[in-house]
Amino acid sequence: MSNSISSSTAPTPSFYGLDRDELSARMREQGLPAYRATQLFSWIYRKHLRSSEDMTNLPRGLRGSLGAICDLALPHAASVHSTPDGSTHKFVLELRDGRRVECVSMRAPRRLTFCLSSQVGCALKCSFCATGLMGLQRNLEAHEIVAQVLAMGDFHGWEDARFNLVFMGMGEPLANYRSVMHAVRILHEPDGLNLGIRRITVSTSGLVPQIRRLAEEGLALGLAVSLHATTDELRDQLVPVNRRWPIRELLEAAREYGERTGRRVTLEYTLIAGVNDRPEDADRLSGIARDLPSKINLIPYNPVPGLEWRRPSPEEVEGFAQRLYPRAPAVTVRHTMGGEIWAACGQLGGLTR
Ligand code: SF4
Repeated sequence: MSNSISSSTAPTPSFYGLDRDELSARMREQGLPAYRATQLFSWIYRKHLRSSEDMTNLPRGLRGSLGAICDLALPHAASVHSTPDGSTHKFVLELRDGRRVECVSMRAPRRLTFCLSSQVGCALKCSFCATGLMGLQRNLEAHEIVAQVLAMGDFHGWEDARFNLVFMGMGEPLANYRSVMHAVRILHEPDGLNLGIRRITVSTSGLVPQIRRLAEEGLALGLAVSLHATTDELRDQLVPVNRRWPIRELLEAAREYGERTGRRVTLEYTLIAGVNDRPEDADRLSGIARDLPSKINLIPYNPVPGLEWRRPSPEEVEGFAQRLYPRAPAVTVRHTMGGEIWAACGQLGGLTR
């Protein structure tokens, strides 16, 4: 069996964008046995090695020439920002083309959550969101999504293998469907990180055809729908994609998703003082949640420089939640994490302090 690598003019793909079958195929193209792909997955995703030099069960010739098969380089962390209590970290990763993407790790008492970005910027321009102010710069590749997980896992020393992933960072994940799903399958790979599908949640502002497509994938991913308003008139302003797929169509697709996957959909509702936090909003929201069925996650608005919206007081948030309970008992209020470092929900957009 030869370990010399034949040359090619095509750019070397990133290891982190290859699933095991794709890597096996590349190994075979080079005259190498496919099981080398399994060994490499194990070193990278299970033993968390980042250099081929230390992969002792690979032939020395392959270790030296692996760079011709796949690129093991990870994006450089341009900066890491931490909250004073150490619970939340924002990572600014510099991509090959010099663009930057942000991701966030949050540690609660019994849970570590990684919040992932799917795009640099976002085209959907939700009116309360720092990422929307950037506009869309580009979609991320699958390897750039997987790399976020590795950057955060390496930082935390992989001390907690049962972390959760939420696609709630920069971008609309279902607008970058192919790369997001490819990344999910790589992260789910049994010979790799083997991350449980039920630990992954995709959040969408309401791309109805892609919600339906997601329901057909045979993967019971968590689905969070960014509702934020209970009338089309208001949602058209807060979440402009509502003009294309209004609330009724969105909820219908969410219902189908829940029925198809057996997972209860989460309705995300950013509470903005004087805008969507009136008693009649609560009454409509509880009716929606009861009919879907779904759980409600209230998110007190997180300020963004240049935007005029105001966060309700804790008492106002509690009053809104209390009004929901009789008809919609599954209500949580999101505990804000990362506001001190512009890392809370809706604040990712190149902001630093
Ligand atoms: S809330 Fe999400 S979909 Fe809306 S602009 Fe921000 S990143 Fe885009």
